[in-house]
Amino acid sequence: MSELVRVAIGPGTTALVWPKCCPTCGTKATLVETQRRLGRVKSIRPNLLGGLTMKSDVLHLSFPACSKHSREIRRAGLVLDNGPIGRFLRPLIYLGALTALGLLFHPTRVRDLGIILLFPVAGICGLAAIIWARLVSSVWPKRFDPDMDVVEIQFQHAAYAGAFRRLNAAATKDELTRAPPWYLRASIWKVALLVILFVLIGRLVGR
Ligand SMILES: [Zn+2]
Repeated sequence: MSELVRVAIGPGTTALVWPKCCPTCGTKATLVETQRRLGRVKSIRPNLLGGLTMKSDVLHLSFPACSKHSREIRRAGLVLDNGPIGRFLRPLIYLGALTALGLLFHPTRVRDLGIILLFPVAGICGLAAIIWARLVSSVWPKRFDPDMDVVEIQFQHAAYAGAFRRLNAAATKDELTRAPPWYLRASIWKVALLVILFVLIGRLVGR
């Protein structure tokens, strides 16, 4: 069973300690350091030079894995990367896959599409790659909590997750990492405020 672990990464927390075994197969022999990274865009604003300044955080995780699974985990990291390119490509992949689903119900349209047919095909290939990457990511840094210095790491095996929790008891303890209830989340109120603003503007314009 896979398990999601919330880890505190704020000031004052120490470096993470990793179990000395492969997170995929559990072997303790021939381990190599494996990297996965997680990025987030904090803000994008125009600068004086007429371009855009992007502020972002990147979290690098480095843990031991056997050489076979190390390669697999790193490749999967490229597919699941949530940098600007991944963020741009992934919606296109989902859209392409949805188009392919639509074609299943209207198979006669396939012939008229011509070169546009590449779009649903690429969507299906992309979706297959994402599913593969999720399946082989025995350590998957999923996302930063939008409201606190906490990162969520998905582990494929509960035993490995348990060992990780024991080694990082301070960083994973509940008081530090517990998700705040929804009404205390700044991100939710920001979205709510935006919606209210849009409704107000809509009313003003519609008058
Ligand atoms: Zn392995």
